[in-house]
Amino acid sequence: MATQFVIATDLDGTLLDHYNYSWQAARPGIELAKQHKIPIIINTSKTAEEVFVLAKELDFNFPFVVENGSAIFIPKVQKTLDLTNDFTVEILGSTRQQIIDWLYAARNENGWQFEGYHDWDIRQLISYTGLDENSAEKSMSRGYSEPIIWRDSDSQLQEFQQHVKDAGFTLLKGGRFLHVLGCTDKGEANSWLLNNFYKTKNNATRLIALGDSGNDIAMLRRADIPVLVKSPAHDFPAHTIDVAVMHTKNTGPSGWTEAIESILKREKS
Ligand SMILES: [Mg+2]
Repeated sequence: MATQFVIATDLDGTLLDHYNYSWQAARPGIELAKQHKIPIIINTSKTAEEVFVLAKELDFNFPFVVENGSAIFIPKVQKTLDLTNDFTVEILGSTRQQIIDWLYAARNENGWQFEGYHDWDIRQLISYTGLDENSAEKSMSRGYSEPIIWRDSDSQLQEFQQHVKDAGFTLLKGGRFLHVLGCTDKGEANSWLLNNFYKTKNNATRLIALGDSGNDIAMLRRADIPVLVKSPAHDFPAHTIDVAVMHTKNTGPSGWTEAIESILKREKS
């Protein structure tokens, strides 16, 4: 195949089933990409510990992006066994320590009503998320962002949002939480990888990006081939992307396979 492709993909609702988190239906698409030696970059709101477990399961030895574009983990060895020693980490956002130092002091100063991971023990996190204990621990081990639940008025939220911005951070709405993170997004991380890691002599690398939600749009906007994977739980997100966006007929990982097969088949013919 003449074209050099790189795939960047969201996890929940895209590579993983919305309900049971299974990636089995994506297997044919993943196998096809592997046959063509196409790297598959996981780009997610999850933490490095959460992604590392999945990457091992999928036998991926590619860079991955965590906490909504906050940091990129790049393997230093052929077979990564240890998250601390076997990766180089490129931080595009802020460290969680920088975020919580500012965030909780600002809460005291302004009297905002919200709670976040920093306030909770593992039992409370489980009660808010329904995660099992092992997954909750991995979700707790955050390095670059702080999820919160807002318990104040909408007008206070607007004020809060302005303070977040003024402090040099970003507020991102996720499925369950609001996330405070550094000034980055999933698209920034993809661009960094293409410019620094997958740069080809004639810039011929073409990025296929797949996602299902609003927080994937920044990533899709910078792709050569953006794919919106159908969700069983919500409509396709609104967007203003210039190039043609592929919308899958099938949901989640089945839609993932559908898209990859169709793009690579089109390329061959
Ligand atoms: Mg998703």
